Amino acid sequence: MATPSVAIQYLSNDYFRVHNTECSICHSADRATHPPETTVTPQIAPTSIVQTATCAHVFHELCLYTWVTTQLATRHATCPMCRHVLVHNPNTATTMLAEVSERLEALEREVEGVYEQMRRLWQMVPMEEGEEWFGVRS
Ligand SMILES: [Zn+2]
Ligand SMILES: [Zn+2]
Repeated sequence: MATPSVAIQYLSNDYFRVHNTECSICHSADRATHPPETTVTPQIAPTSIVQTATCAHVFHELCLYTWVTTQLATRHATCPMCRHVLVHNPNTATTMLAEVSERLEALEREVEGVYEQMRRLWQMVPMEEGEEWFGVRS
């Protein structure tokens, strides 16, 4: 998968320490101290510290890209802190729309089938004078 492009700004390497905060994705205040293949934090090796242009939240660059890539597989990528949309995913919307219209068509066929059964049933049932059956009076 291509690397998603998120509008970001690079911050100083000790941003988390200076501001006494941490990356909310990996909960670490470290910058990279080891290459990804020897990472000691689960799955993610912290790298540069970046700030999103959209909502100004601060994460490790690699944590943010991993998060965004995972989200984009199924939906728009949103900020883990404030849910601001960071990257729109037009494919997902199109796919969902196609799935919904497919289900709608299947439902329409099913409803049509039920109506057909009701019509046949109505023809089989003898009606009393003044009786109402599916909105039809005898
Ligand atoms: Zn992180
Ligand atoms: Zn945010």
